[in-house]
This record gives sequence, C-alpha cells and structure tokens, in this order.
Amino acid sequence: MPIYEYRCAACGGEFEVLQSVGADGRDLECPECGATRAERMLSTFSASTGSHGDGSAGGGRGCGGGGFT
Ligand SMILES: [Zn+2]
Repeated sequence: MPIYEYRCAACGGEFEVLQSVGADGRDLECPECGATRAERMLSTFSASTGSHGDGSAGGGRGCGGGGFT
C-alpha cells in the first residue's frame, strides 16, 4: 500500500497516511486539530522520475550532429 501525504486545510499541519490506491481521504482527521479537511499533496518521488529521463535523452544527440560541418 502506498503512503499518501496530506495537509490539513484548517491548521496547515502535514501528515502521512497509509492508504489503498484510489482512496479519497476526505474523511481523514487531522492528528493536530481533529478537523476533517485534509487535502492530498502530490508525492514528490513519482513526479520527478517521470520527466527527468525523457528530456535529457533526446536533447543531447541532435545538438552534437549539427555543429560538425
Ligand atoms: Zn489540522
């Protein structure tokens, strides 16, 4: 099960919750103030790995061939 990060909209406190995929999490209680206004934050590790490898692989090759004339 993945761990999701949530931020409480009432007090701004952040906390992690172990949840099944597709769970909403809107009924989660903030451990700090007890409010049920938690908003899920985007997980940083999955977002960075996707865009990084794609951009560097294609740009390097085309640039070197052009200036060789
Ligand atoms: Zn809170």
